Amino acid sequence: MARYTGPVCRLCRTEQKKLMLKGNKCKSDKCPINKKRVAPGKDPKIRAGKRSDYGIQLREKQKLKRIYGMQEKQFKLFFERALRMPGITGENLIALLERRLDNVVYRLRFAVSRSQARQIVLHGHITVNGRRVNVPSYLVKSEDEIAIGEISKNLTIIKDALKEFGKSGVMPWLNLEVDAMKGQFLAIPRRIDITDLADIKEQMIVEFYSK
Ligand code: SF4
Repeated sequence: MARYTGPVCRLCRTEQKKLMLKGNKCKSDKCPINKKRVAPGKDPKIRAGKRSDYGIQLREKQKLKRIYGMQEKQFKLFFERALRMPGITGENLIALLERRLDNVVYRLRFAVSRSQARQIVLHGHITVNGRRVNVPSYLVKSEDEIAIGEISKNLTIIKDALKEFGKSGVMPWLNLEVDAMKGQFLAIPRRIDITDLADIKEQMIVEFYSK
C-alpha cells in the first residue's frame, strides 16, 4: 500500500485525537483539533453507539499506526514480532515501536515530527554507536548512543528542532546532550512511562489482529 500523502491533519480529525504529525503546528493554536472540528460525517453525537467492536479495534490500530507513520504491512510485521516475544503482546508492540530509530530521533528532539525524523535518518544524518544508520525501522537497543553525524551538525533543520524542542527535555528512558547533538537510549521504556500514549488501548489492536 502506498504511503499516505494527503493532508495529515485530516488523519487527526478522523481519529479525533492529536496524533502530533506536523511538528510545531501541533503545539500551536493553528492545530485544527484545538478548534474542535470533527471529521466530515463523523460527528460523535450522531455516530455515538453505532460503532461495532471491530470498528473500535480498527480505529485503535489505525491511530497507533498513524502516530508512528507506518504502513500496514510493516506495522503488521511489528505486531507479529511482538506476538512471538514473551510478555504482554500489546506492550511488546509499543516497546518495539518506541525502539524504531526514526522514533528515537524524534524523541531526542533532533526533528519536530516523526516524518521529519524519518527523512533525517533516510538521508544518512544519524549515527548509532558511531556508525551511520539510514534505516528508519532499525531497532535501537538499551545503552545505544544516537548522534547527529559530524558533517550534518550544521543542518538548520536539526539545529532549529533542537533549539525549539530541546528546551522541553526528553522522555525518562532517554538522555540528551544538546550541545554535543547526541543522546542515549538508556533502556526500553515500560508501558506506564509512555505517557503521551496513555489513551491508546493496545489490547484492542491485539484483538483486531487475532480475528
Ligand atoms: Fe494533528 Fe498536528 Fe494537524 Fe493538530 S496540527 S491536527 S495534532 S497533525
